[in-house]
Amino acid sequence: MKAAVFEAPGRIAVTEVADPVCGDHDIIIDVDYCGICGSDLHSYVEGAFVEPGQIMGHEFSGTVSVVGAAVTGISTGTAVTARPLSHCGTCPRCLEGLGNLCEVTLTSSVAYGLPGAFAERVRIPNAVAGENVFPLPAGLGRAAAACVEPMAVALRLAKSAKPTSADTAVVIGLGSIGLNTVQMLRALGAGQVIGIDLSPARLDLAARLGATHIVNAREQDTLAAVQALTGAGVGGVGARADIVVEASGVPALLSQAVGMTRAGGRLRIAALYESEVTLDMNQTVQKEMDISGSFAYDREFPEVLEILQEGRAVAEPLITHTFPLEDINEAFSVQLAKDSSVKVLVAAQSSS
Ligand SMILES: [Zn+2]
Ligand SMILES: [Zn+2]
Repeated sequence: MKAAVFEAPGRIAVTEVADPVCGDHDIIIDVDYCGICGSDLHSYVEGAFVEPGQIMGHEFSGTVSVVGAAVTGISTGTAVTARPLSHCGTCPRCLEGLGNLCEVTLTSSVAYGLPGAFAERVRIPNAVAGENVFPLPAGLGRAAAACVEPMAVALRLAKSAKPTSADTAVVIGLGSIGLNTVQMLRALGAGQVIGIDLSPARLDLAARLGATHIVNAREQDTLAAVQALTGAGVGGVGARADIVVEASGVPALLSQAVGMTRAGGRLRIAALYESEVTLDMNQTVQKEMDISGSFAYDREFPEVLEILQEGRAVAEPLITHTFPLEDINEAFSVQLAKDSSVKVLVAAQSSS
């Protein structure tokens, strides 16, 4: 089959590789679409989370083409999406019910250690319907289905911020995760959501997806804009947002996010940073802030499918480009151009 193999930062080769072999507990999916994730950009540019020889790609949809002898409840010909991250079930974090923090996730999952879905076919080990393989609900297109994975990331993040109708939330950085977080915060009932970005196209999209206010950081003082809605913080310093989500990956904006969060507020960090970040930690103490990172997802896939089916969030408007597998390097360069793209998909079957 044809697959895109990571060779070195900035270089992915589309080449012929052996077809995946289906074990008794596995299934093989003929991939329709696979999205480029923000974390894939870190892999592509810096070589993060990836070794040469890896087939990347973990946000995908497709059709089940082979079912292992011991797999029940999944049949060939079914349109599905699948959760790429595996968990061992026996490490301390798994035993605690935090499968997303499993100690072996990043070395033995699809696209992380095992071959990913920037390929014509992908193997899902230990396939269990409703656990890591999800048939698409009626009406959900295959391109949209490739976006369930990043939406699961956003849903976990939004849930952890515990939004209520009385809350004003700020989302800094409106890439795919930021925009999906705007949608999920609203879907979970956040009263006001302020979206901040530099790109007019992304800001417009945020407004369409439920942001009640948008702030173009190139044209406006972002702190003043948040203060106008929440009031200034104690002593006139910072602002009083109940929830702030940092999804830009710009170190200075994380520092600003600390200032925007009210005393007792929730700061959630979704981005990855290319360098160390300096923060005024005294503020986090004085404001007794609830700060946490949010990593991937655990059991959010079925909830995302339900939210999509109910129309409480949408996937298609975020998809700005689709490239054939052969053009994956171009797809990555378009995904890196933040002003003109949101979610770039790779179409794996030459006919699609
Ligand atoms: Zn992803
Ligand atoms: Zn584990």
